[in-house]
Amino acid sequence: MPEKKVPFSIEQIKEITKIYPTPFYIYDEKAITDNLKALQEAFAWAEFKEFFAVKATPNPFLMKLMQRVGIGADCSSLPELLLAEKVGIVGENIMFTSNDTPASEYRKASKLGAIINFDDISHLPFYEEHVGRLPELVCFRYNPGRAKEGNLIIGHPEEAKYGFTRKQLFEGYRYCQERGVKRFGIHTMVASNELDYTYFIETAEILFTLVKEISKELKLNFEFVNLGGGIGIPYRPEDEAVDLVKTGAGIREKYEEIILGAGLPPLKIYLECGRMVTGPYGYLVTKALHLKKTYKNYLGVDATMANLMRPALYGAYHHISVLGKEQNSNKETYDVTGSLCENNDKFAINRELPTVAMGDFLVIHDAGAHGHAMGFNYNGKLRSAELLLRPDGSFKLIRRAENMADLFATLDFAELENF
Ligand SMILES: *Cc1c(COP(=O)(O)O)cnc(C)c1O
Repeated sequence: MPEKKVPFSIEQIKEITKIYPTPFYIYDEKAITDNLKALQEAFAWAEFKEFFAVKATPNPFLMKLMQRVGIGADCSSLPELLLAEKVGIVGENIMFTSNDTPASEYRKASKLGAIINFDDISHLPFYEEHVGRLPELVCFRYNPGRAKEGNLIIGHPEEAKYGFTRKQLFEGYRYCQERGVKRFGIHTMVASNELDYTYFIETAEILFTLVKEISKELKLNFEFVNLGGGIGIPYRPEDEAVDLVKTGAGIREKYEEIILGAGLPPLKIYLECGRMVTGPYGYLVTKALHLKKTYKNYLGVDATMANLMRPALYGAYHHISVLGKEQNSNKETYDVTGSLCENNDKFAINRELPTVAMGDFLVIHDAGAHGHAMGFNYNGKLRSAELLLRPDGSFKLIRRAENMADLFATLDFAELENF
């Protein structure tokens, strides 16, 4: 089984903790940018762009690194749009893929000149009423319903709240054409955390076929297909990463067959991946506080599910290394817990680890996406700092930890006196 490696040493962590106490997140800059370049390389045959799904890791420093290698932002809320704007990602470098969208968010997306990816046909008149003329470039999110099986996290497409039906796509594009819109895109996203690359080829085939049919019937030209996100990552040591080269090549084959084969003009290929961009390159570092031996071994650490919710929320596996003890043969089995008053506050259940001593650093792997971002303040827990491991081996603080003043910022204690 391939060993999951950590890109920093115990000595480096000891140095960091002199300034920043555990728990904290560390992201590996070089690994993130190298991986993005590999993704771009896999699609170099096309006019390609990745729009990073900001919700996965909404940190402007990471977004700026990505911007430097030509990545845009996939936003789905007002704060995500504001983050993109702060970084300087604007105009058609923003894909606004929202749902149940408030008018204020459409207005901001419109001001920024973002590509607006509509989730529903009823949003077209809603947009006209609350924002104004439809944008010059319009994209629709397609929900294939029974035409496609979903995967576990996203469920069956017909049970998913997202997107237009096939019939609504035709109606929607016609509606836009009648109002003078000339530029069009199409999007779908039916998988999440999918490791089978053929899934993405199938998704491309579905969209290319739709492009062909809609172009023909409505006599319109599509500018791009957005194949969504959902590329999975190998959380378990035995999992294999999606082969990006095979994925790109498979999609190219379908593109040549369906799009070029029909004599259609070239289409740009877009992705809006989040998880695969930052997930494997983010680590949650925590410290062993207590070993409690009752009916089981409970290893208490100083992080909680408020720092990383995925194990509690999805039963997700996150690999754990005991820093500096990776090669130790003495092992024990633990439930690794946090301190919330919730019994599902566990990072691992019945996990065999090198025997842990109190004060040891535990590194929780693959926490770079939907990790810090899903943090919350239950039990008054504070969100941790985020650090960036630079290519030169130095560390930069890219978000400070929350403090008590942050936690209580919305309370007016002075009012208590008069209450
Ligand atoms: C969450 C999401 C993504 C990113 O998904 P990943 O699984 O992180 O790649 C992309 N697009 C939309 C619309 C999403 O909701």
